This record gives sequence, structure tokens and C-alpha cells, in this order.
Amino acid sequence: MNLLALPAFTDNYIWMLHDGHRALVVDPGDAQPVLHALQQHGLQLEAILVTHHHADHVGGVTVLREATGASVYGPARERIPEPLRRLSQGDRVTALGLEFAVIDVPGHTAGHIAYYCADYEGAPLLFCGDTLFSGGCGRLFEGTPAQMLASLSALAALPGATRVCCTHEYTLGNLKFARAVEPDNTALAQYQAQCVALRAADQPTLPSSIALELQINPFLRTRQATVQDAARAFDATTSDEASVLGALRTWKNQF
Ligand SMILES: [Zn+2]
Ligand SMILES: [Zn+2]
Repeated sequence: MNLLALPAFTDNYIWMLHDGHRALVVDPGDAQPVLHALQQHGLQLEAILVTHHHADHVGGVTVLREATGASVYGPARERIPEPLRRLSQGDRVTALGLEFAVIDVPGHTAGHIAYYCADYEGAPLLFCGDTLFSGGCGRLFEGTPAQMLASLSALAALPGATRVCCTHEYTLGNLKFARAVEPDNTALAQYQAQCVALRAADQPTLPSSIALELQINPFLRTRQATVQDAARAFDATTSDEASVLGALRTWKNQF
């Protein structure tokens, strides 16, 4: 099985899994990079998994479905091009012989879902759309800080070895912000140096892992005193964990 990050637009990745014959893709905002990869590797598209309704995640769905007959799966409570199988927490999808469990992760959008495969070649795999990024999290367009905190906590509780496939290459910008929050985090400084080198070589910084994100991502570290103190320095009214996350998100928007 192969895991590919197909670049799209300026900073999207369309994740593709294939076994040399059949493929699935996640959040195809544009059909062209997918059609190109299918042709290049001689693949039949079997399934399209969608995490949320934003155009840069669904823009290629109809063209791909009509061209390939692939089954489309997406969140139960969002407007996604029909026909699709609507999914929510606890539902399961089987594609390419892999089983994915659906996790509700509202916050970036109201009905955002993530797809978790417990065993992909010896370790878990997560497609989390625009909820969790390496070093950051999605903007709160339709949800509250408390919802995003609960969603990120559910993802943070997955096994440390879980490979995290996010939809955007936002890592370097996120890490600049993360260092402003935690200037003395040495794991963060090391990871930033690695990511700068990867981007200089035109390589993706993804997938990340849950274990790594727990060490470096301020949005998963809202219980740490260092992160809480930094959030309070930005917004003195900060109290509970959700308000720490809300303050970080507002700070990042202005950063
Ligand atoms: Zn989005
Ligand atoms: Zn997006």
C-alpha cells in the first residue's frame, strides 16, 4: 500500500492511498491532480472520503465521481455534493480492505469529521482535514473553543504512533507561532529546524504523529503551565482550558 500527498492549490494536500490497482482519496478540492495520479499509476478510484464542506476539500468530488464511479463518503450534517454516504461518530467505512472509524470533530466547521484507521501497515493512520495541523489547528469558523478543545482532545487520545495526515502545509507558519508561545520548548526548536530543511528541499512536513504533536503543538498543550501563562499574557481574562485555546486561536489569527 502506498500513501501519497498530492499537492493542490497553494498549500493543500489531497491524500491518496493505493495498492497498485485501487485507490482512495481524501478531500479532493481539485480533480486534476487526482486524475493525473490515477492515470500515472494505472489506478481505479474506489472511494472518496470528505471531512468537511469547504470548497478546497470538495471542489473535485463531482468530476471524480462521474469520471470513475467512486463511492463518496462525507459528514452527516454538512452540505456535500450528492450522492454520498453520510457518516457520523462511530460509523465505519471499508475501502481498499482498510477499515476507517469516523470521529466527530466539530470546531472548524459544525459537522467536521475525521477518519481513523487503527492498523495501516503496522501503525494507525488519521485523516483529520482542517481540525488538527502540525503545530496548529483549524480556524473556528463554525464552532466554539470548547468544541475545538473536545475535538482536539479526542484526536490527542489516539495512539502516539498514529500518523497524522492534515490537509494543509501550514507547518512552518504554525511553528513560528508555537515558538512565540513556548520559546523554551527544545523539542519544538528541533522540529522547526527539521521542517525548514524539508520545505527547502520541497518536501512535505507531513504526515506528523500524535506523539510529536503532543510535544510541540500549543493547541494540544493547553494544560501545560507554559502555554497557559503565555495565553494569559495575551488575554488576562483567560481561565479554563477552553479559554486558553480560544486565546491562542485569537492570538494566532493576529500573529
Ligand atoms: Zn476548511
Ligand atoms: Zn482547507
